[in-house]
Amino acid sequence: MAQTVKRKGIRDEGIISAIEKVPRHYFLDSAFAEQAYQDKALQIDEGQTISQPYTVAYQTMLLKINQGDKVLEIGTGSGYQACILIELGAEVYSIERIKSLSDKAGSLLKKMGYAPSLFVGDGTLGLPEHAPFDKIIVTAAAPEVPKNLVDQLKPGGILVVPVGDRDTQTMVQVVKESETKHHTHFYETFRFVPLIGKKGWKS
Ligand code: SAM
Repeated sequence: MAQTVKRKGIRDEGIISAIEKVPRHYFLDSAFAEQAYQDKALQIDEGQTISQPYTVAYQTMLLKINQGDKVLEIGTGSGYQACILIELGAEVYSIERIKSLSDKAGSLLKKMGYAPSLFVGDGTLGLPEHAPFDKIIVTAAAPEVPKNLVDQLKPGGILVVPVGDRDTQTMVQVVKESETKHHTHFYETFRFVPLIGKKGWKS
C-alpha cells in the first residue's frame, strides 16, 4: 500500500514510513480485512468512511507537518489519519460529530498506544478553546473554506480542506501568512463524505 502511494507521487519518506507502520486493518471491520491494504476508501460504522490511503498521504503532505506541531483534525472517523499525524510527531486534537465513532476510535487508539485529544461536537466551529493551531485538516467535504478555521490558525499555519459540492471537491491549502494575509492554493479533486454542521452542509 505504501508503495502504491509512493508510485502515485507521494515522495515524503516520513509519510511513507508512517503508512507502513500503522496497521490499517485494525481500523476496519473484519469483513473488510482483505481490502485493508488496497488503495481505496472503505466503509466504517454510521455510513462513514476511512479515507483512501493516497488521500490520507496527500492531505498530510499538504499540511507539511513539523515535529511538535499542534494539529486539529476535523472528522476523527476511524482514527487512522490521527495516527499518521502522531507518527509524524504532531500533537493531535481531533473532533468528530458522531459520538459512537469517536468512542470506538478512542478505545482502539488507546490500545495501540496513541494518545490524541478527542472531542465530540461540530468541527465546523473548530476548537476555539484550544486554538491557535499550527495546522488544521478537514477530512470531510466542505461547501466553502471555513473562515473561522483560518482564524484558529497561528500565523504561518496551514489549513487543508476539500471544498466543492457533494459529489466532487478540490483539495484546498490555505497558508496563513499573518493575521491579515493568507494565500489559497488549489490541488487535485477528491470525493469525501459531507462535512455536516453550522458552517458546513445542513445534513
Ligand atoms: N479521518 C478519518 C479517518 O482517518 O478514518 C476519516 C474521516 S471520514 C472521511 C469523515 C468524518 O467526518 C466522518 O466520520 C464524519 O462523521 C465526520 N464529520 C462530518 N461532519 C463533521 C463535523 N461537522 N464535525 C466533526 N466531524 C464531522
